[in-house]
Amino acid sequence: MVKMSGFFRCDRTQSPLLELQGYLYEYSTFQTIGFFKQVISMADSQKRQALTGQLMRISPLVWRLTAPNAGVMTGPGTNTYIVGNSTVAIIDPGPEHSEHLDNLLNMLDKHNLAVGWIIPTHTHMDHSPMAVLLQEKAGGILAGMGAPKIATQDQSFVPEMKLQHGDRISGDDFTLETIHTPGHASNHLCFLLKEEQLLFTGDHIMEGSTVVIGPPDGNMKAYLNSLKMLHDYELETIAPAHGELLKQPYQVADGIIAHRLKREKKAMDALNQLKAGNLDQLVPLAYDDVDPRLYPVAAFSLKAHLDKLVEDGFANVEMAGVRGKEMSMWSLAK
Ligand SMILES: [Zn+2]
Repeated sequence: MVKMSGFFRCDRTQSPLLELQGYLYEYSTFQTIGFFKQVISMADSQKRQALTGQLMRISPLVWRLTAPNAGVMTGPGTNTYIVGNSTVAIIDPGPEHSEHLDNLLNMLDKHNLAVGWIIPTHTHMDHSPMAVLLQEKAGGILAGMGAPKIATQDQSFVPEMKLQHGDRISGDDFTLETIHTPGHASNHLCFLLKEEQLLFTGDHIMEGSTVVIGPPDGNMKAYLNSLKMLHDYELETIAPAHGELLKQPYQVADGIIAHRLKREKKAMDALNQLKAGNLDQLVPLAYDDVDPRLYPVAAFSLKAHLDKLVEDGFANVEMAGVRGKEMSMWSLAK
């Protein structure tokens, strides 16, 4: 852990435990990981208290209101961004939470702001469910990409304005450019505030925790490509949906890519060693730097890496085993 700007921030290159932080939450049905969740919670508690429920002016055009849904994966809570000084765009309205809705309506009223657009970066449950409720109270157009038909996605969000890569939303005093960044979710969008070169990254890049890439909607190859694509834009600052602002956006993106590729290399080495193996056999080799109690969780992350190796042509996958108990077996491509 290194201390930055008054907040504890995990160093992704040092901690395999924190590499799996998001996965721990996502797959927290595993009894054995309670201890690890506790460790992470303690490390995050100071940061959470600083942001949760708070309204903050982060730039001349942007307010940030953090929802009171702090947690292992949501960090201090989901950041809702209010963009513009008259008719505003609300990025990531957040989870369905009455206190957050009240806080949001109060701040709009106090600062005499009208809602023009309500735009979730994607349709996970901590990002979009407030959209419809906010629209009922404050108006505005629902804009974004609809949810894939998956149980864990918010089906209540149905965009009236369907956004695609390159689309722009122009207010009186701001322009937001839509950047399609699949990886964490297939419908994930980032938004670039052109006037301030500020990139709203949703869950594409978070501060202080790892992004879950959970197949099949999550895709590691798409994720790394979406990170590389950020070099095509003029960026000054990253405004994530969880955590504090990040400077040096290109270094941040490149650091995440390098770290994920390091894990991919270990997955490749595991395949080399075993020639062929299922997840249970590959995890102890690819994650030999984590506590074995975390293997069930690491398996989800490894699956995303193996899928990418298959997509890249470096590995093959086939079903093997007795009937009714078939499982995926990966091997090196010939
Ligand atoms: Zn998400």
